[in-house]
Amino acid sequence: MITLTDVDGLKKIVRDAVDEKRVVLEDIAMFLYENPELGSEEYKAFEKLTGVLGDHGFEVEKGIYGMPTAFKASFKGGAEGPRVAVLAEYDALPGVGHGCGHNLIAASAVGAGIAASRAVSGLAGEVLVVGTPAEEGHGPSAGSKVVMADHGFFDDVAGVVMLHPGSRWGVGGQALGIHQIEMVFKGQTSHAAASPEKGRNALNAATLTYMATHMLRQEARRDANLVIHGIIPEGGLASNIIPDRAVCQFGVRSSDEKYLGEMVEKVARCAEGAAHAMGVEVEITKRKLYSSKKLNIPMVKTLWGNYKELGAPVRDWRESTTAMPMASTDFGDVSQRTPVAGSNIASALEGTPGHSVQLAEATMTKQGLDAMVLGAKALGMTLVELLARPEILREAKEYFDSH
Ligand SMILES: [Zn+2]
Ligand SMILES: [Zn+2]
Repeated sequence: MITLTDVDGLKKIVRDAVDEKRVVLEDIAMFLYENPELGSEEYKAFEKLTGVLGDHGFEVEKGIYGMPTAFKASFKGGAEGPRVAVLAEYDALPGVGHGCGHNLIAASAVGAGIAASRAVSGLAGEVLVVGTPAEEGHGPSAGSKVVMADHGFFDDVAGVVMLHPGSRWGVGGQALGIHQIEMVFKGQTSHAAASPEKGRNALNAATLTYMATHMLRQEARRDANLVIHGIIPEGGLASNIIPDRAVCQFGVRSSDEKYLGEMVEKVARCAEGAAHAMGVEVEITKRKLYSSKKLNIPMVKTLWGNYKELGAPVRDWRESTTAMPMASTDFGDVSQRTPVAGSNIASALEGTPGHSVQLAEATMTKQGLDAMVLGAKALGMTLVELLARPEILREAKEYFDSH
């Protein structure tokens, strides 16, 4: 073992390895672009990624927790020590192929893992590349990171990094947790003109729920990024029949996990109150989809520092970590289990919409591939730095435990 670790020297090994493997990484990005597969069906991508990692000395475990296109690839350092991971996504979208750019996520993760593996022979620990299918929520492996997190997969991983393509550089963006609630109201049909007194109107209860839920906004905590969106997909069959069945569906989101739980209960209470008022029954089903992102500043600063070192025009991490979160991701569930740092690379021109053909096409441009290569370096450098500087992981753990 080396005692005084030359971290800069190790980072150079990572950068050189990514440059050396650029052709392999571009090939992965292109192969996935040309063979877009929906979530849970990413067999070609799965074979490609596990094949490349296996060829580069990784021990590959195919299929995790019954998810056939999930994988774990590991590479051990010189001695036992902490495990650090980079996550790969590789599912595409219907109609727009890799319109979310997951082909670049996969290429960068493989690149980061292979490059880091070149630098860990003198370090204690292990590098993992984890294949997490169906991020977009399609098929039986939908939200695979939630399944892995719930099974405790990340509990003995000390730090996790990844990147996502888009049109801006940033490290440490927040994400909204999301719960779904469905309310099914049951009343009694009756002739709407001849015998309205014999009816119990389920649609009235649904309407009241819809309005009451929206009134909650007035009391919402302003710093918790609360979003409530909903529909009434069922509200009766004919206008001359008092509806005996109506359904409300709501999505509730917030960047604060605990507050989100409280708001879900309040939304459910609106339905209970409305049902009581209208004299109908209600059945409420709550389903947690994704957790919010738990920020870990020591991890964010480390990954950000490496992007900076590479000269990426990445905006200040303080700006990213306080920016308003726009979306939800299963990476949030990983962040609730262990310290993480996520990043965004500008693979596309500013203003390119997410989930679009334009974003997919941008992954094959020089800008897109250059951004992927730079991202692979930053992720790989971070994996190595976390193992070479155990104090960062200690600090990250302390931060995690105290927030
Ligand atoms: Zn997406
Ligand atoms: Zn995505």
